[in-house]
Amino acid sequence: MSLERELGKRSNHQCELCTSSEKLSVLEVLPTKTGGVDESLLVCETCKDQIENPEHTDPNHWRCLNDSMWSEHTPVKIIAWRMLSRLRNEGWPQDLLDMFYLEEDDLEWAKATGEGAPAEDQIIHRDSNGVVLEAGDNVVLIKDLPVKGSSMVAKRGTAVRRISLDHENAEYIEGKVDGQQIVIITKFVKKI
Ligand SMILES: [Zn+2]
Repeated sequence: MSLERELGKRSNHQCELCTSSEKLSVLEVLPTKTGGVDESLLVCETCKDQIENPEHTDPNHWRCLNDSMWSEHTPVKIIAWRMLSRLRNEGWPQDLLDMFYLEEDDLEWAKATGEGAPAEDQIIHRDSNGVVLEAGDNVVLIKDLPVKGSSMVAKRGTAVRRISLDHENAEYIEGKVDGQQIVIITKFVKKI
């Protein structure tokens, strides 16, 4: 039986991460030792794209890990662990990681690609006082800020609710001011 057919049987022809049945293909969990069904899983196009291209990661898509992290199949758990680690700054993935159990060998495998590396390698957003910012936090502007590409000035003292983080740059967060989504530099905000 081909690998794809074998995985199709195991997964009931669904993405083993999000249960979508659209455009399924085999994902090898790197680094592989023997390959085959114990080191692969069946994933949909959306999951595969985001796994392979961190810049495409949509945190909300990965709420599906809430269920799939409990899979009985190790390759599924490894990828679930890696994606939760990638998203841990969102808050809820860290909560799931705290409940996540992997055997020691499997944990080593999960860490082998560098996902979930120690904190110093992670992008941490801090406000003007050095307080760590997380997605969903509320902040206040401590300075009048011109808004790029418009004549608007976001006034000092403006509260920005439910910020999101720029996952590639610790200096930037995003949030809505007067209904407009703007990029804000972290050193000009204070967490409230
Ligand atoms: Zn999927």
